[in-house]
Amino acid sequence: MTTALYRRYRPETFAEMIGQSQVTDPLMTALRTDRVNHAYLFSGPRGCGKTTSARILARCLNCAEGPTDTPCGKCASCIELARDGSGSLDVVEIDAASHNGVDDARDLRERAAFAPARDRFKIFILDEAHMVTPQGFNALLKLVEEPPEHVKFIFATTEPEKVIGTIRSRTHHYPFRLIPTSTMLEYVEEMCRLEGVTVDAGVLPLVVRAGGGSARDTLSLLDQLIAGSEGSTVSYERAVALLGFTHGALLDEVVEALAARDAGAAFASVDRVIQTGQDPRRFVEDLLERLRDLIVVAATGSNAVHVLRGTTAEEVDRMEKQARVFGSRELSHAADIANAGLTEMIGATSPKLHLELMVARLLVEAGAGVGASAGFDTATSLPTQPAAKTASSASPIQPAAKTASPTQPADKAASPPAQPATKANPIEPTTAGLTKAWPAVLEHLQNANRMAWIVVTTASVREYDGDVITLVFPSENDAASFRPQQGVPGGVHEKLRESIIAVTGESPKFRVSVEGTPTAAIDTVPPEKPSPVVVPDAPGDDWAVVDIPGADEASTSSADDNSSSASEVPTSSTGDSSGDDGRYGESVVRDLLGATLLKEERTGPIETVPPADTGAQVLPDAGEA
Ligand SMILES: [Zn+2]
Repeated sequence: MTTALYRRYRPETFAEMIGQSQVTDPLMTALRTDRVNHAYLFSGPRGCGKTTSARILARCLNCAEGPTDTPCGKCASCIELARDGSGSLDVVEIDAASHNGVDDARDLRERAAFAPARDRFKIFILDEAHMVTPQGFNALLKLVEEPPEHVKFIFATTEPEKVIGTIRSRTHHYPFRLIPTSTMLEYVEEMCRLEGVTVDAGVLPLVVRAGGGSARDTLSLLDQLIAGSEGSTVSYERAVALLGFTHGALLDEVVEALAARDAGAAFASVDRVIQTGQDPRRFVEDLLERLRDLIVVAATGSNAVHVLRGTTAEEVDRMEKQARVFGSRELSHAADIANAGLTEMIGATSPKLHLELMVARLLVEAGAGVGASAGFDTATSLPTQPAAKTASSASPIQPAAKTASPTQPADKAASPPAQPATKANPIEPTTAGLTKAWPAVLEHLQNANRMAWIVVTTASVREYDGDVITLVFPSENDAASFRPQQGVPGGVHEKLRESIIAVTGESPKFRVSVEGTPTAAIDTVPPEKPSPVVVPDAPGDDWAVVDIPGADEASTSSADDNSSSASEVPTSSTGDSSGDDGRYGESVVRDLLGATLLKEERTGPIETVPPADTGAQVLPDAGEA
């Protein structure tokens, strides 16, 4: 039976504390210069040395040769307060979690009244001080504010804000922090050496990571690993399995598959993560960490060994290769996606699904990014080439360019920059001609817009008359996906049109039909569906402009109205404004669209007053009546 590591190696002096110099240095100075306060508040995350520091402080204060910053370790007090000592009568440790009420505070007050039994001070250490009730603190207030000469208080808490302000303001507050990774790594390495344990490469960084900066947690994990190891060697396999981390080899696989955009391998690896019962979230965390490492490696090269502590030169070599395949821009992009995926997985009902979607996104975005960057590179290095290419490939335009002004071809080349410079092969504007070119159109669409392609592949061409293509879809749903959505410019039909233009040079309109419906249905398509499709023929303008029914007549007749039948309208408009340009609201509706209010139709003056021959005289009559 052995005691736990963290107890066996609990520091006995401030000099032995690791990673808390922001606290230990000023405390030691205060002790050396004899400027010790009567109450201290130690705050910080669990397992980073608050209670240990409180005990060390007590040891320093009560040392026979003290107060000192380095207890002698030989006097009675020092021996009693050592890590395996019996404890001192004059140092009282109170667990505030179970002694938090008014009665406990009163009890403490009484005990404080007595002088120390042997040593210099009576020291009260209140652990978990945030658990003390406000009443309990209030009962202590007077004592903490003006304690007897021989009394010292040390409050230790993870939640200093829960210690009431009146107490807090009477203490010196020392915030403890999580221990930095590098410090902790050195510490556990040293500990393994002292314990005579050999540890596989890569295990200790995992232990430190799992410990999360808490010395107690880290040492507990190491303890557990050592306890479960055959002989005196802690193997990597066992550590990875116990700590729940992703095996480095599996991470390598996934990263290499992603870098090579090998979807098959990537999904196979993800499946293995799931099959081995690993937490998908933990896996994404590990993947994100690996991407971070790769970014560091890409930025610093072989110097990364000094930044990524605990990694061997061999691992850095491998990561360098992975980073090179990825490319640094892609890496940071992939890290963004993984990070977003991690956030999405919080509370997700199916983390597996999210994991797979995230991998899909990584694969897709990686490909897209590469295409974009390649395009960008060529554009910057050879700025004149694309323009020249489009000009030469767009041969049909050339004769026009000769006759037209010289700026026109430049404009045309500049306006559709996203369009791949594929040369259009003119086709015979018939059903047969289009059917022949259809596979090429689909292929173009697949590369240009995969979503649109998925919709269009379900359709077949029934007819092309040189102007309108009739497409037949297997179901109404498919047809609906193809039709333009109201208020959404550039739908699937636009993408298809772009591809058809690119491949064949034709710029057709579409007519949509659903399989199984009689052929006649194609000709009698519901008017509202085909009309927006047929209308947007104008290039560059995605918005289907539909004429307002009767607007033409209204505008032409309104001119007449203004001059001849102005009498009918003025009921509302000319009363206050005589000018035409000042009209708005109701008068516009009335003038331009010839509308009348409903009530006017029913109870308007038309019924009471017979239709007037001379409108001008009707108005005053109506007004008087
Ligand atoms: Zn001593």
